[in-house]
Amino acid sequence: MSVSDLTAVVTGAGSTRGIGRATAHALAAAGWNIAVLDLDEPSAKDAAHEVAERHGVATVGVGCDVTDEQSVEDALTVLDGAVPPVGALVNNAGITSPTPFLEVSGEEWDRIFAVNLRGAFNVTRRTAAGMTERGFGRIVFLSSVSAERGGGVFGGVAYSAAKAGQLGFTRALARELGPRGVTVNAVAPGLIDTDITGGALEGDRKAELIAGVPVGRNGTVADVADLITYLCREESGYITGATYDVNGGSHMH
Ligand code: NAP
Repeated sequence: MSVSDLTAVVTGAGSTRGIGRATAHALAAAGWNIAVLDLDEPSAKDAAHEVAERHGVATVGVGCDVTDEQSVEDALTVLDGAVPPVGALVNNAGITSPTPFLEVSGEEWDRIFAVNLRGAFNVTRRTAAGMTERGFGRIVFLSSVSAERGGGVFGGVAYSAAKAGQLGFTRALARELGPRGVTVNAVAPGLIDTDITGGALEGDRKAELIAGVPVGRNGTVADVADLITYLCREESGYITGATYDVNGGSHMH
């Protein structure tokens, strides 16, 4: 089975400047058909349209709140018949928050976990069975340098804890699904120029942060998309349960 007979699901790929949309383009350039699931339906459809136009693959864009099991179920039902079977899942949808621990509310904590962890559970749970039945699958989680170093450049304790939870999820799932032909990996980006921080990292603060990055720049969405696409290749079948840093050397361990 070649990737051109399969679909890669990318969650949160609506955001025009985000990692998800860049990943959808990179995977399509590698031959994958693409399904975009995003909270915002028009942007999901826009991303799907843009990817189809640029790469000539089959695409579908669906509005979906990954935190809501029924919404995920409905969105994935739309894929049936519209695009080939799911062969890869990129758990990209995520939200962050810099709120200091002594100020964080239980509600905010739950929201961060709901999107980053429960959301990833909902979509993975619904797509992994088909992958194991076909004996091939690639699952990639968007964790963060925050999970590794205890807070990143923007993420507080809730975000770091949720992103670290994804690493345990990745490893345990890799162990369970490895015998069925499904690899599960995580990528841990450092500071990537997207809208997730809502423009909070500009000017002097940005220059200060870049001073701590050995390669002398912040990351681009293409840097991350390229790594994810590599992990989704058929030839990457011996890589599983791994966490790949993509942080310009800002955190080494
Ligand atoms: P982004 O541009 O904000 O993209 C996140 C996307 O997720 C948005 O399209 C957003 O949709 C969507 N989303 C949020 N909640 C959702 C939900 N409940 N259901 C479905 N979709 C939802 O951020 P990004 O920087 O590309 O981040 C992508 C991933 O990389 C995240 O998991 C993030 O934690 C991780 N990451 C980013 C960085 C960085 O520096 N940028 C570093 C490390 C890790 P709406 O726009 O419609 O709300």
